[in-house]
Order: sequence, then C-alpha cells, then structure tokens
Amino acid sequence: MAKNAFANIVNSYGLKCSGLNAIDVISGVPVRIWNSNGSAMASLFVANKSSADAACNVLKNAASAAKIAKPRANGTSITFSFNSAFTAVTQYQEFRNIISRNTSYFNMDQCPFCNMGNCDTVGLYKNTTAIKMHRMCYDRDKQAKLTNLNSFDGNIVSGIIAALVAAIALVALAVCIYWYGETSIYPLYVGIPIAIAYAFKFGKGPYGAAGTICHITISILAMFGYFYFLACCIASEWYEIGVFQAAAYVGDILEIIMWPEFIKAYVRELILMIIGLGITLAMNPTSKKLAAKSINEMDKLLVPVAPANAQFETYNPFGSDNTQNATAAYDAYNTQNTYGTQDTTAQNPYGDQNVNDDWRDVYAQNSDNNNDNGFGN
Ligand SMILES: [Zn+2]
Repeated sequence: MAKNAFANIVNSYGLKCSGLNAIDVISGVPVRIWNSNGSAMASLFVANKSSADAACNVLKNAASAAKIAKPRANGTSITFSFNSAFTAVTQYQEFRNIISRNTSYFNMDQCPFCNMGNCDTVGLYKNTTAIKMHRMCYDRDKQAKLTNLNSFDGNIVSGIIAALVAAIALVALAVCIYWYGETSIYPLYVGIPIAIAYAFKFGKGPYGAAGTICHITISILAMFGYFYFLACCIASEWYEIGVFQAAAYVGDILEIIMWPEFIKAYVRELILMIIGLGITLAMNPTSKKLAAKSINEMDKLLVPVAPANAQFETYNPFGSDNTQNATAAYDAYNTQNTYGTQDTTAQNPYGDQNVNDDWRDVYAQNSDNNNDNGFGN
C-alpha cells in the first residue's frame, strides 16, 4: 500500500489514470478523482447550482451515516475528500455505495461538445470535469486542438512584450525584497525564468525553438538586470551617489560585477536562477511536442459508460475481444453489427422495440426508464 490516498484508490479500483487525474464511473455517474498533495478528491458534476446544493445536503447525511468526510458543494460540483492513505480504500467504497444509491442527482446526459444526449463515453472535459460525452465529439475536439497547435504561428512581438513585462515586474520585486533585507526568499529566484516563460506563452509567443530562445534570452537579461542593480548598490555606497545615478556608469558597474568578491557574494542567487532556467527548459511551456502530449494524455481517461458494478477491465461493453483497450473496443463496436441480425423484433436481446437505443441502454442509464436493459439499472 502506498502512502498516498490517491494512489491507493486508483490501484485498488483499477481506475483509468493520467498524471494527477483519474476517472471512475459509478452506476453510470462520472467521477473525477484527483491527487491533491497525496489526498484523493472525488468530484461529481451537477447540471446547476441549486440542484448541486440539494444533492449535497442528501449526500452529507449519507456521508455522516457512513462515517466518511462530508462533501462540499462548490458551484456545480460536489467534492468528497479522502485524506488518510490507510482508510482511503474502504472509505471510497462507502462513497461508491452512496453515489450508486443517489444516481438520480447525476443523471446528466448531455455532451459538453455538441449539447446532445445519448452519450457513449465518460472523459475529462477541460481538465476539470468528468462528464458523459460522445467519443466522436471528443475525437473531433482533440483533432481540432492538435490542428490548431500545429498551425499556430504565434506572435513573437506580443510574446516578447508579455515576457518583458513579467521580467521587469519580477526583477522589481526582487529589488524590493533586497531593499528590505529579505534576501532569504530563494524560491523567487528560481521562479523568475519560469514565470517569464509562461508569460511569453500567455502573450501568445510562438511554440518551438524560436519561442524557447526568446524567453530564455529574456530570462538571462532579467538575471543580468538584477546583478547590475546589485552592483549599482555597491557603487552607490562606494562613491556616495544615488543607486540610479550609479547605473549610468556602465563600465564601472560591469567591472564590479566581475569582481570575485561580488560573484562570491551573490553566487547563491545566480545558482538559483540557473536552476530556474533548467526547470524552464524541462517544463518548456512553448514546446510543441509537450503541448501535443498533454492534449493526447486525455485519451487515458476515456471510459465507456458501463452499468453498475461493472469494471472497465472485466466488462466487455462493446463486444470486442480486446477488453483492455477502450479505443479498440469502441472501434470494434462501431464496425460490426452487435446483434448479428436485421430482424430486431426476433433477436433483440433487450426486449426494447427501439433497436437504436439498445446499445446505449447497456452502458448508460435507461433513456426511457423502462428497466428492461437486462442489467437492472
Ligand atoms: Zn457530442
């Protein structure tokens, strides 16, 4: 057992997981589980705020009866938390029981992409919400994002301006801290290049090598600016002139920067900034490859909408031999006639006259509530 509540839940229930997010589908209800510093949070999406509050009150009572932490409603989402690594798995089972008894609050069947019903998949929408959707809409949106990413030229001017604004603001902040003697705020030094890189991206600077060279160069200029200021301070004491007056004597200031004593005094700040540069290069917010990777990552969280208590790994919703791979199973479903006959009245296994709805009845809640889907839900 891991020391982490999130990992324990994900492993014990075999949930689909990507980074800090996992998806569970409890009796057709999509749940997003995420890792918050080792604690597991489980969020459910409700159509509007007033029904979220109503659902939360019912769930609160159920939670205290089951002796698990009460959920909190925030806008249209309800969140349970599981803090202890040791009890998370058993508490999560209680949570699952509560949700499967209260599915009526969460029976939303509206694809966030096209606003239509009859959803066939649960996925993570906008990195925040586990919701039913159409696999086709998801794929279309993903392709649009990737196409957009590949055709994104970016604007090097607005990118540079945004990065420069961040550079000036952060160097000014570092100067202020220096001025008030708080030289111990080291994370700031590491943060300068990272913030500059994200500002460059925020300013719609281009992806790829050109973008990276731009924000790294601006970071190095910002570092130089900071040390230039420190040297001005020394010069101002030395020659008894103002700090900004000293800044004009470029040759003397550069000479001070090259002093071994100066370098020795500020080597820690320099090293921290270089660490920041290294982190920036590793995370590289302007890397096209990393951006495409994070778009593709969402594939890992797609789950076919399955009936109560069915495990994604063991339940084969689409009639494919490949039970491990939702994409393959889904594609297999789409290319074959599951019912093997055109005679829907004779061979319709679900007793429903509307054969077009049958596949959906299997995985989702009944659209017509006729309770004849063979799974009792
Ligand atoms: Zn859709």
